[in-house]
Amino acid sequence: MKTEVKQEEIGIELEVPKTEEELIAQEEKKEEQNPVAAWNPRTQIGKEVKAGRIKDIDSILSSGKKILEPEIVDSLISLEKDLLLVGQSKGKFGGGKRRAWRQTQKKTMEGNVLTFSSLAVVGDRNGHVGIGLGKSKETLPSREKAVRLAKLNVIKVTRGCGNFDCSCSEPHSIPFIVEGKCGSVKIKLIPAPQGTGLVVGDECKKILRLAGIRDIYSYTQGYGRSTINFASACIEALKNTGVLK
Ligand SMILES: [Zn+2]
Repeated sequence: MKTEVKQEEIGIELEVPKTEEELIAQEEKKEEQNPVAAWNPRTQIGKEVKAGRIKDIDSILSSGKKILEPEIVDSLISLEKDLLLVGQSKGKFGGGKRRAWRQTQKKTMEGNVLTFSSLAVVGDRNGHVGIGLGKSKETLPSREKAVRLAKLNVIKVTRGCGNFDCSCSEPHSIPFIVEGKCGSVKIKLIPAPQGTGLVVGDECKKILRLAGIRDIYSYTQGYGRSTINFASACIEALKNTGVLK
């Protein structure tokens, strides 16, 4: 405390440059507080978003241009994130408890080389959702990669009420029956009346919840236990909500 008071009295010593470690810590704090403010855009869309010329994410998504910077999505909509359980724990008694990290091994001359992957889902609970699969040699970097990719893969989900028993006009379900497929997994999403809830597998529930869908029936075929294919099939189905066949 004493040294601080002295520095304030002198007033000149405060301008002495700080050590590198302090500066790095300061910058990290700034980025944590507001990642968008410290963002230096490199792509054309990024520059326009930062300048405030693009204020709507739907205009980017409908133009068909690829989003290459996650900060674009961050600054346009407020996202929530979640992890899907893609892996399972090892060990005695069969293991098999679902985990957020999938652990795989490659056999080499030096020994087993581990890779962790994780599947993240981001959404604004208002018609925008995306998933991303990140891989890394450790667990936490793979989650960060997954969240970044999920932001880049954000899609628009058209919501509505396509159930004949429920003649409301609120966007609590989907406008018509849609189907999606990935690997052997086929999923069919069917509009449901208000108050039904999400009648799907748990991992798909997380995606639909973040997309802002409250009521749905579903029919799944194939090996739905492979979470990555199940989630991709769900996203494929949601993409089809924008196309009336
Ligand atoms: Zn309805």
